[in-house]
Amino acid sequence: MSEVVRIHEVGPRDGLQAEKRIVPVAERVALIDKLSASGVWAIEVGSFVNPARVPQMAGTDQVMAMLTPKAGMVYSVLVPNLRGLEGFIAARASNTGLDWEIALFIAASEGFSRANIGCSIAESLTRVSAVVEAARPLGVRLRGYISCLTDCPYDGPVDPAAVARVAKALYDIAPMPISLGDTLGRGTPERVTKAIAAVAQNVPLSQLAGHFHDTGGKAADNIEAALALGLRDFDAAVGGLGGCPFAPGAPGNVATELAVARIEALGYATGVNRAILAGAAQMARDMRAAQ
Ligand code: MG
Repeated sequence: MSEVVRIHEVGPRDGLQAEKRIVPVAERVALIDKLSASGVWAIEVGSFVNPARVPQMAGTDQVMAMLTPKAGMVYSVLVPNLRGLEGFIAARASNTGLDWEIALFIAASEGFSRANIGCSIAESLTRVSAVVEAARPLGVRLRGYISCLTDCPYDGPVDPAAVARVAKALYDIAPMPISLGDTLGRGTPERVTKAIAAVAQNVPLSQLAGHFHDTGGKAADNIEAALALGLRDFDAAVGGLGGCPFAPGAPGNVATELAVARIEALGYATGVNRAILAGAAQMARDMRAAQ
């Protein structure tokens, strides 16, 4: 039996929020349902950020209400703060019985934290801690995200020790899987390996995931390097949804099709039906093209 690698599909949130076109709720639901049929392990379906700032994710509560629950599927939603958690709790009541996960975001560099989260790393850890405490009684899963694994668009290269410190602080709030993001897509297998190895001194490898961007064309190689270190959990976006927000026209999130192809070529199992995934990728490309 092949060893199993989990695919955490992020296209309907991380991908679509970076697309210019605002995709209507019904199309987002159709994409999510198609992805759940493909056999990915988890799907990030939306976020409870301020819709004035991220109009692409407005209506996440409607998405949650409309999606067709699939047994065994984990549904993930980005929750940035307590107000977002309130929105999540209200929406969750409209579609019960699903296995929910809350995604929590931290940056490894101060410049990115201030620009994208609007506060220092220390302040954002305090926010995350408040959300985790308030979410505890809900019994939902948690998943941490750390951006700027190797490079920050504002501060330049990121010291692996800095990533390791932030990962420890996050893991100290609550043990949870932590996805390490190469936000700029500049990571190479060597640098990614160094950064993950540093984090693994503070957080068990079994709890680490990789979130690679293909801007520099190295995402599949970085996945391979992370697999070699022992990671078995990867984020990817169907059809490469999202592009790179820092390099217009360039790829961002690694395409799920590409990630699955490389992982399976290396002898691992993902449980993903590649024909259904190809159908979802076509939907994603059509979504992006439609005006
Ligand atoms: Mg991403």
